[in-house]
Amino acid sequence: MRCPKCTSIEDKVIDSRIGKEGSTIRRRRECLECGHRFTTTETHVRDGIVVLKRDGRREDFDRDKLVRAVRAACHKRPIDAEQITMLIEDVLDALEARFDSEIPSQAIGDAVMQRLRRIDQVAYVRFASVYKEFRDVGEFVDEISALAKPPEPPPSGET
Ligand SMILES: [Zn+2]
Repeated sequence: MRCPKCTSIEDKVIDSRIGKEGSTIRRRRECLECGHRFTTTETHVRDGIVVLKRDGRREDFDRDKLVRAVRAACHKRPIDAEQITMLIEDVLDALEARFDSEIPSQAIGDAVMQRLRRIDQVAYVRFASVYKEFRDVGEFVDEISALAKPPEPPPSGET
């Protein structure tokens, strides 16, 4: 990153934070030449990832859907939004390196499970139990989201 003061490209990152909305990373940098400190914002753009489903269909990767699934699995666990964002970025980095632009849905689920397991056993088991039944990100997201919701109130007006 070029220093806005002296235009040197030598800098070090002092601090990294996830932006409020979870899709940007703010980095505090210090120029190694002149010591000037500045902040950069990076948005990780993931264009054109296609999920290859088990039945052979393809659909555009929906990041929000995956975030919701992981968040649901982490419901009431000591895992914050930043950890979830980091986990998903980490998963996508690894998968993009492995699969190019077409990623089997199973690989996404497996990669998330591996990482969740290291972070929190309960979240891992929740994610895994639902995921193993469905083996499909699209289907199991709906299912796991339902798990995290409070139970439906009993229907009223019927006796
Ligand atoms: Zn500088």
